[in-house]
Amino acid sequence: MMYMHYCKCCNHIFMLNGHRMICPKCLEPLTELRISYLDYTKLNIEEREAFKASCADEEQLKKLKTRYRMYKYSKWYKELQAENTENLPITTLLAQKEREKAKKKAEKKAEKEANKKADKKADTNDETL
Ligand SMILES: [Zn+2]
Repeated sequence: MMYMHYCKCCNHIFMLNGHRMICPKCLEPLTELRISYLDYTKLNIEEREAFKASCADEEQLKKLKTRYRMYKYSKWYKELQAENTENLPITTLLAQKEREKAKKKAEKKAEKEANKKADKKADTNDETL
């Protein structure tokens, strides 16, 4: 299921699969919006811009947002909370996880690149022999 979310930091409306708590771009906490995915897709470009402008306004956002509370029963939430000895906001923990994931991914990529280079070097060495 697709749900609409707003990131104040990016000033962007995101269509995301599932109820998300952090922005996929900047990892700051997201606000889930009451508007359904279908209703949003029916808006034209001007209406979307106007809607985004309303989201950027704290007072209006209060009326536009919704809170998904069922996540408290999900496995990932329980697992995160089990490690949460410092009682940090769940969005902070999620952002940390995402940063770790991105770091690992970058490391793996760098490793792969290094291996590729090493292979290439080995190849050229073979040719010179
Ligand atoms: Zn963002």
